[in-house]
Amino acid sequence: MAETREFKTEVQQLLQLMIHSLYSNRDIFLRELVANAADAIDKARFESLTDTTLARDWQIRLNIDKEAKTLTITDNGIGMTSDEVAANIGTIAKSGTKEFIKALAEKGETADMPELIGQFGVGFYSAFMVASKVELNTKKSGSDAPAVCWRSTGEGSYELDCSDRTEPGTEIKLFLKDDAEIYLEEWKISEIVRKYSDFIAYPVVLPSKKVNEDKTETVEDRVLNSQKAIWLRKPSEITDDEYKSFYSHLSNYGGTEYLKAIHMAAEGASEFKALLFLPKQAPFNLLMPDIQKKGLQLYIKRMFITDECKELLPDYLRFACGVVDSSDLPLNVSREILQQNPLLDKIRTAVTSKLISEMKKLLENSREDYEKFFTEFGKILKEGLHTDRINCEKIKDIVLYESMNTPAGKFITLKEYVEAMPESQKDIYFITGDKRSAVASSPALEYYRSKGYDVLFMTDPIDEWVMQTMFQYLQKSFKPVTKGDFEDKESEDKVKAAGEKYSKLVDFLKTTLEDKVSVVRFSGRLTESPCCLIVDGSALPPHMERLFKAMHQEVPVSKRIFELNCDHPLIDAFNTKLENGENPETLKKFANTLYNQALLLEGSPLDNPVEFASTITELLSNALK
Ligand code: ADP
Ligand code: MG
Repeated sequence: MAETREFKTEVQQLLQLMIHSLYSNRDIFLRELVANAADAIDKARFESLTDTTLARDWQIRLNIDKEAKTLTITDNGIGMTSDEVAANIGTIAKSGTKEFIKALAEKGETADMPELIGQFGVGFYSAFMVASKVELNTKKSGSDAPAVCWRSTGEGSYELDCSDRTEPGTEIKLFLKDDAEIYLEEWKISEIVRKYSDFIAYPVVLPSKKVNEDKTETVEDRVLNSQKAIWLRKPSEITDDEYKSFYSHLSNYGGTEYLKAIHMAAEGASEFKALLFLPKQAPFNLLMPDIQKKGLQLYIKRMFITDECKELLPDYLRFACGVVDSSDLPLNVSREILQQNPLLDKIRTAVTSKLISEMKKLLENSREDYEKFFTEFGKILKEGLHTDRINCEKIKDIVLYESMNTPAGKFITLKEYVEAMPESQKDIYFITGDKRSAVASSPALEYYRSKGYDVLFMTDPIDEWVMQTMFQYLQKSFKPVTKGDFEDKESEDKVKAAGEKYSKLVDFLKTTLEDKVSVVRFSGRLTESPCCLIVDGSALPPHMERLFKAMHQEVPVSKRIFELNCDHPLIDAFNTKLENGENPETLKKFANTLYNQALLLEGSPLDNPVEFASTITELLSNALK
């Protein structure tokens, strides 16, 4: 008995987009349905490893009926129960759907629909780009659950019904729209399959007419795809298009553009072959750890085992995707037990080294591409500096930073930094902050600029965390320029003298700014600005404090060190006013204004901007009188 159910709102929106789509490349609906069929067979085949009665002649069949104007895609894979149909096809559990709809709505007609469909994993619904009605019959493999029929015209609701299907697997019948009759042509169907699904590991069969010698016609099964596992083939024999379609099949980055395809063939202790890809563009969900797929696909002797094998790839390389095909892992054990196999560690070690060395090659040979790549994925790669004790030296060779001497958006390597160091420079200097514009104007850079030393700009939130354990590179120590004590032999005497000469001023500032700063002192750090704020060696830097506050987290309030420039005329003038007994209220205003200026320069918000503005107005009016 048929039962009608409503689609979830999101699905309805999605279907509206599909039904009315004017997108040019509708061919990809077949890629999606064949991919689903292959996934379903992967699952059934995996179960048949432990229950051999389930083994069968795995196959995906396509059937064209020109009279009825239907195209049918049938697999003998895992199938679905009635509940599974409702869950998988009637609702969309995946959170990507919302983003998909949003992305389409934003990009409108210019959006590349096929790229987006792949990226967001909403493949089944693409059938409605070409079909006015879809009928799905399915029976769950290895179960007594009755077969079910699902049908829909994509307009708001779908019907669930009994089905007379007896074989395990799924059959999807598309009633083609008038403008989609091209998909009734054998040549068109075989062209699409060869283009997008050639590497699918099961035969995709199309019964095809054959004209015999005596002019009679017979129908014969024709296998459309070569089924060659692309990772087992010689790189020289793989075309660009083949790499591209395999990449789009593998990655959840959407699209077919990758930066580099990397083949590996390991022999010895653990024998495996791999095909890995470095991506070009970050997907929308790169930094959402829950949604982002991680790991590599694992095959054992060409048999698909699992999709997201985390054991094969460290987290900080999660932007890479690919396939590993091992010849010495055991086939007939459960995935859970398999994942504890020490051979996986060996493979991960090899894959990690390979990816790092390939990135290094890119850096050396195609700098521009690597810089673009690093802009997208550098934040993630840098996690490895902290988490991968074994490879962190190698990762140091391939991370990039902007610096005081680079133009915005251009990078240098640590090696380039060290090579450019003047002889008098002993350490590697860096400044942390949340963006280039904030760190580039910091008064703390003045001294280094005057000395001709470069300062690395560390403006990713992760840098702060990484620098807690990154101490040295090529035997040079990393030193933050806005933290802790400033050591400089040349200005030592001058600083000491200023401290004595202006001791009254220092005391006055200390009392006035008591709530805000822990120490007031002179230093040789400044050459242009009158003053700046410095972080105590152990305290949280100001941009991290802001970050935590933005996340509504409790942060310990850390008072900063207020440093003064001994040579600045303003300091001397201030001191004179103080000694001449100027009105204490006015002096306090001077002190607060200086402090607020220093806050502005480090990019921190003012405690009381209104008060600051009115003080400035007052000071200006007096000066202009
Ligand atoms: P995805 O393949 O990314 O999960 P789809 O929209 O293509 O998204 O498919 C949705 C779900 O429907 C699949 O995850 C699967 O559970 C189910 N499904 C689709 N086609 C088949 C099929 N031929 N056999 C079994 N299950 C299927
Ligand atoms: Mg799919």
